[in-house]
Amino acid sequence: MHDRGGDILMAKIFCVANQKGGVGKTTTTVNLAAGLAKIGQRVLMVDLDPQGNATMGSGVDKRSLELTVYDVLLESASVREAAVLSEKCGYWVLGANRELAGAEVELVALDHREKRLKAALAEVDADYDFVLIDCPPSLSMLTLNGLCSAHGVVVPMQCEYFALEGLTDLVNTIKQVHANLNTDLQIIGLLRVMFDPRITLQQQVSDQLKGHFGEKVFNSVIPRNVRLAEAPSYGLPGVVFDPAAKGSQAFVEFAQEMVDRVQNMPAAATSIAKMASSA
Ligand code: ADP
Ligand code: MG
Repeated sequence: MHDRGGDILMAKIFCVANQKGGVGKTTTTVNLAAGLAKIGQRVLMVDLDPQGNATMGSGVDKRSLELTVYDVLLESASVREAAVLSEKCGYWVLGANRELAGAEVELVALDHREKRLKAALAEVDADYDFVLIDCPPSLSMLTLNGLCSAHGVVVPMQCEYFALEGLTDLVNTIKQVHANLNTDLQIIGLLRVMFDPRITLQQQVSDQLKGHFGEKVFNSVIPRNVRLAEAPSYGLPGVVFDPAAKGSQAFVEFAQEMVDRVQNMPAAATSIAKMASSA
């Protein structure tokens, strides 16, 4: 069903990251997960934010979890032990709650502290087609664990005035991780989210992005859509809560674009060099 030219099927791992808060990381993670599940992909969603919004937004109560990504990072549980299936959403969830905030400090004393998640995910490589990691809005040890695990970064961004400026920092961070810790890492693409085509400035920034980053900008555009904002209060991604909504349809389209892009992923080195020269 998921034929990739006869290769052994291995999960493609993506971080959804942006140092800014409130830019749509969690919304992108859970809706992309639901979209991929909808088109037949096996998905694990990893919540690396102690706020646990992606966990709750996937219909999993963070307060009732016995094991979370915290236990996995501290090697007291495996991913298989800690992940739970969200039946409503059709994907697996390695959840997070407040406890995860403590991991930051506890990890400092440990060996290979930035590669703990990578090691844990290697054990479930054959179980999934996609692993999506929702990162917190900072370059913490948690985000570093995400970036060290991943083949690529999906960067959600709003088409606002300072968007390009923030991007330079993120690109530099990814370049550093690429150079020092994870040579697989690349920016898989920039996703325009909360887009309102009626706002001229957003159109202009969108055009600028395309001009600067070319094919690194996903074709799919996620519109500002109230149904996507309402869905978390029902503990669901918009794609599951209201599949007919414009925003939900855009995320399913984006899921298909991700599947296509993964099949044509270029070598990491060239693509980072390209990002660096254009940022
Ligand atoms: P982050 O994880 O980067 O902090 P969130 O995904 O939590 O960002 O999004 C921030 C806020 O914006 C949330 O209230 C969310 O519901 C809302 N939001 C995200 N994407 C959209 C969208 N496309 N349309 C409308 N509201 C959105
Ligand atoms: Mg978030």
